[in-house]
Parts: sequence; structure tokens; C-alpha cells
Amino acid sequence: MAELLTFVLGDVFGVVTLFVGIVIGFWLGRLWAKYVQPPQPAESEDESAAYRDQLAGMIQFTNHFTGDLSKHIELLENLEQKLIQPEGGQAVADDGPSAKAVELIAQITAANQKLKQRLESAEATLKTQSQELEDTLSEARTDPLTQLLNRRAFDEERERRWALWQRKQQPFSLMILDIDHFKRVNDTYGHDAGDMVLREVAARLNSVMRKTDYLARIGGEELAILVPESDWASVSTVAKKVLNVVRSLPVQYGETSIDITISCGLMPVIHVEALDTLTKGADEALYAAKAAGRNCGFLNNGETLIPIEGQSSLSSQDEQSSASNPSRTSEDESEPTARIQISELDSAANELKNRLFQISQSIMP
Ligand code: GH3
Ligand code: MG
Ligand code: MG
Repeated sequence: MAELLTFVLGDVFGVVTLFVGIVIGFWLGRLWAKYVQPPQPAESEDESAAYRDQLAGMIQFTNHFTGDLSKHIELLENLEQKLIQPEGGQAVADDGPSAKAVELIAQITAANQKLKQRLESAEATLKTQSQELEDTLSEARTDPLTQLLNRRAFDEERERRWALWQRKQQPFSLMILDIDHFKRVNDTYGHDAGDMVLREVAARLNSVMRKTDYLARIGGEELAILVPESDWASVSTVAKKVLNVVRSLPVQYGETSIDITISCGLMPVIHVEALDTLTKGADEALYAAKAAGRNCGFLNNGETLIPIEGQSSLSSQDEQSSASNPSRTSEDESEPTARIQISELDSAANELKNRLFQISQSIMP
């Protein structure tokens, strides 16, 4: 009889331990997967407090749960001891079930039942808490106005793609977009109309994105896209789609139609040595687009700024110089010749600054 009970005990204990292991393993695995990435600084005190509360809740819960499990194991061990050495020192008779043994089995069953209920409720609680944590993390990476990914999410993805480029030579390009004369929209139609335009532009851009493009709102009326290619044909196609989808139709704000355009600057990763240079290069290209009158895009290839549209206006001189330079790669050859040198851009910027300074002086009382 004692052998049978020991077998039952061992069996039950094994099943319970396996079940517990599966549940804990499953949830700890999910949690671990979320936290293996280096933690990012929380954007606000509120967000950090929310993470802290949720984590503290989960830790408290896990401690509580582990305590329950220890108690259960202790109880089973006590019962096993009683079976081997019943009170009064007499061994359990092998010739039939004693009242003592039946009572012990009932106690084991009751303890297991209780533990099973606790495990089920533990699973439900962990599921809810995990969902809450997931929601908080997702909110922290989403821009509330446009529902696009925000700056934090974008910076992480840019770093991830940069690492892939460094390790596996997987190319990509950075495109920075800026809505033209957006301040004027706010000033003319009001801030709500401005918000509406931002949401509409975000939705239009989303509609032309491919699954592998990564679109985010990185500032007030600034957006950015990570394009997983760096050749002229692919990136210029994406840029043209972006420019066209924004300019194609006015944005409707009630009865009012608001004409909107966007400018963009592109920099393929193949032309840079550092991630900072990539961002700076895309910014330079964006600045060129603004300087060229807006509603257009430029690509920075590290040496020159090339307009995205108007390739058909290649001059025959440009074509000859391209053909006579044997060191050019096939990718270079597919790019139209540069219209603006970066040094020219600097002098244009300086001139603009001077003019603004003069205007501000003339309107000062
Ligand atoms: P440019 O063509 O040179 O880019 O001119 P711009 O007017 O678009 O640029 P500027 O930087 O002068 O103005 C940007 C404006 O965007 C100013 C700011 O009030 C507005 N803005 C930034 N974020 C928001 C927002 O969330 N909602 C609204 N409605 N306006 C915003
Ligand atoms: Mg701007
Ligand atoms: Mg703007």
C-alpha cells in the first residue's frame, strides 16, 4: 500500500510540476523576449511610472505564486513522510488500504485541486498583465495624432537597419519628408485644420508604403521613411509616389479644400561611413528641395544633390561626361546628373540668412 501511495504521490507531483513549469516557462519566455532589447529611456515620467507599476505588479504576483507553490510542495512532502512513518512509528500494513492512507489520498487530491485552481487563475492574471504591458509599450511607440510610429520607434529601427548594413551589407535609404508651408496652413485655417492635414498626409503616405518600408512621424510636420534599397531606380520610385500622393488632391477640411505639397530628401546608406552622416545627408537633400522651390525631392549621393524628378531634362553635355567617365558604376549611370553642388547650397543658405537678418532689422522699431 505504501508503495502504491508513494507512486501516486510521485505521479501527481510530477504532473503538477510539469504543468507549473509549462505555465511559468511560457510567460517568463514572453516577458524575457520583451526585455532582452536594451531598455530605451521613457519619454515622460508618466510612461516610466506606468512601466514600473506594471513590472512591480508582475514581480509581486510571481513572488506570491512561487510562495504558494513552495507551500504545496512542502505539504506533499509532509504527507509522504506520514505515509512512510505514520504517527506512533508503525508502518502502514501492506495487506489493504488503511483509513489513514485513504485520508492522506483525499488530502493530496484536495491540495492538488487547490493548486490547479491557483494555476488557472495565475495564467489568467499573467495574460491580462502581459496584454496591459504590451499595450503600454505599443502606446510609447505610436504618435497619438497620426497613429504612425513615433520618433523613438524610428530611431530604434534606423539603428537596427544600420547594424544589419554593417554586419550583413543589407542596404537601405533614409528619406526625410517635410510638409511645405505648414505654418501657413495653421495660420490660415486654424490649428485643427493643420491637425487634419497631418492625419490625411499620414494616411496617404501609408497607402503607398510597401510592407518593408518603415514610415514614422519624427517631428511636428516632419516624417521619415526607411526604404530597404539604395539603388536609384527603387528609391526614386518611392520618392515619386510619396510626392504624387500628397500633391494629387487637396485635403478637405469641411467645405474648405487645402492644397498640400511635401518636400523630401534622400540619402542611401551606401554613400556614408557613419549613421550620423546618413541623417545629415538626408537633411541636406531636404534643404535642397526647399531651396529649389518645394514640392520636390533630392537625393544626396555624398558628392552631389540629384533632383528626383525631371530626369528627362538631362543635357547632352551631362550625358557625354557620364559616358566618358569609365570609373562610374552602373548604379551611378542610372542616376541623373547633379543640379546642385553642396558647396552652392551652403552659400545659398548663407545668403538666405543674411536676407532674413536684413528684413528683421528693417522691421525693428
Ligand atoms: P517649410 O515649407 O519651410 O517647411 O515651412 P513650414 O511652414 O512648413 O515650416 P515651419 O517650421 O516654419 O512651420 C512648421 C509649423 O508646423 C509650425 C508649427 O506650429 C506646426 N506644427 C508642428 N506640429 C504641429 C501639430 O501637431 N499640429 C499642427 N496643427 N501644427 C503643427
Ligand atoms: Mg519642418
Ligand atoms: Mg514644413
